[in-house]
Amino acid sequence: MTDANSGALFERAQRVMPGGVNSPVRAFKAVGGHPVFIREARGPYLYGADGAEYVDYVGSWGPMILGHAEPSVIQTIARTAALGTSFGAPTEGEVKLAETLVEALPSMDMVRLVSSGTEAVMGALRVARGFTGRDLVVKMEGGFHGGADYLLVKAGSGLATLGVPDSAGIPADVAKTTLTLPYNDLTAARALFEIHGARIAALIIEPVAGNMGCVPPEPGYLAGLRTLTQEHGAMLVFDEVMTGFRVAYGGAQLLYGVAPDITTLAKVVGGGMPLGAYGARREIMSKIAPIGPVYQAGTLSGNPVAVQAGLATLAKLKAPGFYDKLDALGARLEKAFVDGAKKAAIPLTVQRVGSMLTPFFVDGPVRSWTDAARCDTARFGRFHGALLAQGVYWPPSQYEAGFISIAHDEAAFEHTERAVFAAFKTL
Ligand code: PMP
Repeated sequence: MTDANSGALFERAQRVMPGGVNSPVRAFKAVGGHPVFIREARGPYLYGADGAEYVDYVGSWGPMILGHAEPSVIQTIARTAALGTSFGAPTEGEVKLAETLVEALPSMDMVRLVSSGTEAVMGALRVARGFTGRDLVVKMEGGFHGGADYLLVKAGSGLATLGVPDSAGIPADVAKTTLTLPYNDLTAARALFEIHGARIAALIIEPVAGNMGCVPPEPGYLAGLRTLTQEHGAMLVFDEVMTGFRVAYGGAQLLYGVAPDITTLAKVVGGGMPLGAYGARREIMSKIAPIGPVYQAGTLSGNPVAVQAGLATLAKLKAPGFYDKLDALGARLEKAFVDGAKKAAIPLTVQRVGSMLTPFFVDGPVRSWTDAARCDTARFGRFHGALLAQGVYWPPSQYEAGFISIAHDEAAFEHTERAVFAAFKTL
């Protein structure tokens, strides 16, 4: 160990970066203590600045589905980087990744590659507005779609964590273009479209919500939204930044059998490098510059290293039984939470779709942000601290999903199960 410890690094960090971090949830504000500064990561493990080992369930907030530093991905990145890291000109890799994505998601004929989920969502909603000629966007309370001004309204993820669902710095006229709905409430959606339907360009939704904790869609909900948006000529946008290639190779749209008009992707498709994508059928994507009037551009879009990291990752996901294995790992972790809470007589609801899951410290199901807001976040904070003390790195917020990778092996699980049981006893 040559580094200063995380506490000392956090002191330094706070002098030069707001809250000492470059993305708010990393600051551990919701759970107390200081963040662990990471030195390196391998397989299911993170190593802190002080050398401590943690079983990781954050997975860089979703991308690391193969585990950290997966050898074939790292070799690909190194080989590609040695040939130059950015050209600002097209590459064959971009074509291959675009072909791979449209093959995996039949709702898309074409994609545009960008550098983050935020950018993917902004492009998707711009083309939805350009295509429909309408201004309004509908999102879910507790839904998070990245940092665009008009989407930081009743938002989940870090905003829910910090209790500031509406960001400062957003012009009122911009916020007015966003309407919100409770998740899993088709009646409310119908009522909203009854009033505003003719002015709504798009309804954007995480088909499995992940940013208020893991909240699956109820049976018929996504199909109901599909019908409703179609009836009103609005675009249905599935934000699959988190769920794409995570809950199934073809994303939540394959899992639930509902095809959106437009899809956004990031996280897994970039294999841990900065990459996002948005795609739709040809008629919609043909509105995008240089073949259409909707402008969107990026210096590092389709970055050659990111594209190859994505391709190397997606290739591994095609292994037979990959998602069944991930699902079994998810079930095992779910059972550890459920059994641990039961033994300690602590009210807990675990919600899971495959390898994304959240232990909600509340009695009864969480169907929407209203339900999620009832959670005992103080108890979650103690649980988080107890896990961390025992070498398990869980997302530092009640309102996030934990992610399991295919690299989570028997040793990692046994460690986790012991830690989970012990943590519940301390609550
Ligand atoms: N959409 C969803 C569903 C997300 O979970 C996130 C990030 N957690 C984003 C968009 C934004 O993606 P990025 O952080 O890559 O900009």
